[in-house]
Order: sequence, then structure tokens, then C-alpha cells
Amino acid sequence: MTNHTHLPSLGDHYSQLLGLVEPWTIENIDLNVDQATLDIHVIEQDATAFPCPECGTSSKLYDHAPERRWRHLDTMQFTTEIVARLPRVSCQTHGVKTVGVPWADPHARWTLLFERFAILVLESTSNITRAMALLKIGWDQAQAIRTRAVERGLARRTKETIDHVGIDEKSFLAGHQYASLMTDLDQGRVLDVVQDRTTESAKMLKRHLDGLLAHCLHDITNAVTEGLNSKIQFVKASARGFRTFQNYRIAILFYCGKLDMLPL
Ligand SMILES: [Zn+2]
Repeated sequence: MTNHTHLPSLGDHYSQLLGLVEPWTIENIDLNVDQATLDIHVIEQDATAFPCPECGTSSKLYDHAPERRWRHLDTMQFTTEIVARLPRVSCQTHGVKTVGVPWADPHARWTLLFERFAILVLESTSNITRAMALLKIGWDQAQAIRTRAVERGLARRTKETIDHVGIDEKSFLAGHQYASLMTDLDQGRVLDVVQDRTTESAKMLKRHLDGLLAHCLHDITNAVTEGLNSKIQFVKASARGFRTFQNYRIAILFYCGKLDMLPL
């Protein structure tokens, strides 16, 4: 005699994996074996009102936005995406707005779980080309994920006392331009990077020193920052050329900022 245990349906299984909560539910799952893709179609069920994304006031369902896709963690070898037409609500204060979803940040093209995984892969590999191949993403997407990660990390950084601050000038864009790096010498991390225009650098310095107890300024010559310097050199060497200052700043902060960047 065989005992059969109840197995949840595939939809239930994915709902649990995605952490979907009411009113979100899986409508259907499309598996395309030839293209090795899996689309998870998500809809809201029996909901006539949602919180306004601006103010949180419960607002009436107005209509649905066009279909959107979010890249999710792969299912086995299948590239997996969540597909949904998001409800739009009519808020009395803010007008018609698209509601927020539990699986992704607003405007993101990836689920929070995919973004988290991508950050860990990008952080841990010394070869960005290999990371991009592993994640099946392009350079622009990798850069967008790093940018969002750095912004998240900077927003989370708390005001704290930094005892020893270093300022160092580094070249980028094949040595044609310069940037000033401000570093926390005790923790061996980069605090910020600004393009070298004297006024901007002076402004940055003032902004960062205000409210901080900076006991003294050191040149970046000691052992702690030697390690940091080699890491910065590595970032510069492993990047596909920084065509813009912003890309350079984001890469340095991503790898050398010791930021808390994960979305979950
Ligand atoms: Zn509102």
C-alpha cells in the first residue's frame, strides 16, 4: 500500500517561492521548452481598492497599466519572468497611479530576489564579463543593478564619527580626467567620489566634514589604504573603460564603499 501525500499545485508552489500575498495570485504559468523560458503570470484577485503608492490611502481601482515583465531567478535552466498588468488606482489627492507590488521596487525590471542574487554575483566575481554571462544580463543592466545597489547603500549609511579621512586624486578615462576619492582610513572604505573641479571637491569636503569629527587628514599612504588602493586599481582594470564619471563613481562605491546594498 502506498501513502499519497497531498502535493500543492504548481501555482501554489510558485506563490510560495515568490512570497506572493493577497490579493496577488498566479493566473497561469507558461513554459516554453524550445526557448527555455518560464513566464509566471500574476494577477490580483477580487480586489477593488489598493493603497495609493504616494500616500497609502486606500483608493479605488481605476484600470490596468500595459503588461510588464520582471526578470526573476531562473527555474532550473529556464529564464523565469513575472508578467503582470498592474492595477492603477485613482487617488483623490494624487490622481491615477500604478500600485506598488511586493516582488519588485517601482520601475525595477527585476524582482527583488533576482536583484539580490545579481548583486552577490557581481560583488563576488573578479570578472564582470563572466558575471554578466552567468546572470544572462548585458552591460547596461549590470550597471543599472550596481547603480541601484549603491544608491540603496548610500541612503542606508548612517551619520557616524569618522576619525581619519583621506583625500586622494585618481585618474580615470584613460588618464584624461581626474577624480577625488574621499576615504575612511580606519575602515578602509571609499566614502564618495567627485569629479575634479576644485569648487566641487571643496564643497564635497565641507559637506562630509560638517558634523563629523575629523581629527586629522592623512595622505593615503598607510598600509590600510594600500589594500584599498589595490582594490580601486583592480576595479579600474576590470571595468570595460569608464566612459562616464558616473560609471566610475558607481563602480568604485560598489566594490570599495562597504555599503549595505542588498534589497532584502
Ligand atoms: Zn495618494
